[in-house]
Amino acid sequence: MNYYSEQITNLIGELSQLPGIGTKSAQRLAFHIISMPREKVERLTTAISTARENIRYCKCCCTLTDRELCPICASEKRDHATIMVVETTRDLAAYEKTGKYEGVYHVLHGAISPMLGIGPADIRLKELMVRLQGDVREVIIATNSSLEGETTAMYISKLIKPTGIKCTRIASGVPVGGDLEYIDEVTLLRALEGRTEL
Ligand code: ZN
Repeated sequence: MNYYSEQITNLIGELSQLPGIGTKSAQRLAFHIISMPREKVERLTTAISTARENIRYCKCCCTLTDRELCPICASEKRDHATIMVVETTRDLAAYEKTGKYEGVYHVLHGAISPMLGIGPADIRLKELMVRLQGDVREVIIATNSSLEGETTAMYISKLIKPTGIKCTRIASGVPVGGDLEYIDEVTLLRALEGRTEL
């Protein structure tokens, strides 16, 4: 790509390292950015760097937030005795979009995958177990229906069993291998309503 000047090549190179961005998209984005008004570019770079600087894990549910406690954990309107366990903050957002779930969440940031060498200690399970010492009525396991998601669900249900807390798994209305974030709201709600006790 040395037919572009060094700075353009550099920008394309950086952009093409983002997920889902191939060389062609990176080129398109780079030329778009170069043609943008300076203030817009400024806003974009500031948004990226301040988010990177300030976003952290909620000290309760581990979702990504810019405060110590995320708005859901801080809300008095939510049912704090019902915890839905999801793999990512994007999955949390998918359930929030339905507007029908009133409990709180726990974000694992991944799933157990022996193949990829990701064990229970590599996801936010310890934090979940600490929360279960409080006043919890039900844990809804809403990990993806992939092999990793199912393995994680089984593992968590075994951990919860001795505590006597009700532990449920969302129904398999969610297609096998399907990522929660790509599933429509009706299917998500149906999966939640049809959850079964583990
Ligand atoms: Zn939180």
